Amino acid sequence: MVQLKSHYPSPPFAKQSQPIPGLACKMSPKPDHGEKSYEGHQRLVGRKALITGGDSGIGRAVAIAYAREGADVVINYLPDEEQDAKEVLSYIKKAGRKGYAVPGDIREEKFCKELVEKSVKHLGGLDILVNNAGRQQFVKSIMDLTTEQFDATFKTNVYALFWITKAALKHMKSGSSIVNTSSVQAYLPSAGLLDYAQTKASIAAFTKSLAKQLADKHIRVNAVAPGPYWTPLQVCGGQSKEDLPQFGEEAPLKRPGQPAEIASLYVTLAAKETSYTTGQVWCSDGGTGTV
Ligand code: NAD
Ligand code: MG
Repeated sequence: MVQLKSHYPSPPFAKQSQPIPGLACKMSPKPDHGEKSYEGHQRLVGRKALITGGDSGIGRAVAIAYAREGADVVINYLPDEEQDAKEVLSYIKKAGRKGYAVPGDIREEKFCKELVEKSVKHLGGLDILVNNAGRQQFVKSIMDLTTEQFDATFKTNVYALFWITKAALKHMKSGSSIVNTSSVQAYLPSAGLLDYAQTKASIAAFTKSLAKQLADKHIRVNAVAPGPYWTPLQVCGGQSKEDLPQFGEEAPLKRPGQPAEIASLYVTLAAKETSYTTGQVWCSDGGTGTV
């Protein structure tokens, strides 16, 4: 009988915080990105994928899964995350696939274009783009939400996705897939995530609009909307320090998800078997039934 993985950690968690962007290897407990558990079934053989935020959390679980499904993978991340990124590259290589690192800050349009060009060069093409990098900083009141933070959140979550997607489309042919990371925050925004929630709603709308634009080119555009997942994003200011120990307790499954538990949605949305699925937002939030 298949069982829910109730062996995964539940709240309360130890109090902890890291400066952004945070490292998975310094979290307690360490997130499960499927390093020991993900089994590939040849669903992405020969595919060429660029994954932003591929060093840790959800992006890392996707990178490991994609490599084990047969894809070559470029990961992008911030230079401070080299330690996490190195581990991911070693898992890609152990899976027998090619893995490349292109670190850099996606808040710069120029870098976003370079990222795509370097990815295409490394991989010899591009047919999967996973726009997953994100910034989330909890601020209780709009009165304390600075223009700098508002701008940084929109640059990372919205502008970069626009710039990277535009550059990537010059190389993507019929059969390619774009998978974006939205959030349940697009639908049930928290009071203290005013700027972040708006960006995630924007990503859901971007996904649906672009899917219509690209339908006749047979390029699919979908998104995944995670609920609470145990990743560095949450321990470096994504939640208030007081609330972090109870992270995930409000979900019916009474715990946060682990990145390993969501990677297969990204695999399925990129795989050719879902060729009739485009413009969709798939949610995984521990049972809230948000979307
Ligand atoms: P994470 O911290 O592991 O991943 C976020 C990544 O974004 C970082 O690793 C970093 O490499 C990248 N990033 C941030 N700013 C960047 C910049 N300026 N330039 C380049 N890269 C940058 O956390 P995660 O939770 O796995 O986040 C992945 C995605 O999932 C994000 O889009 C996030 O909004 C979304 N999400 C997470 C949750 C959750 O509960 N963890 C819930 C819903 C949505
Ligand atoms: Mg990271």
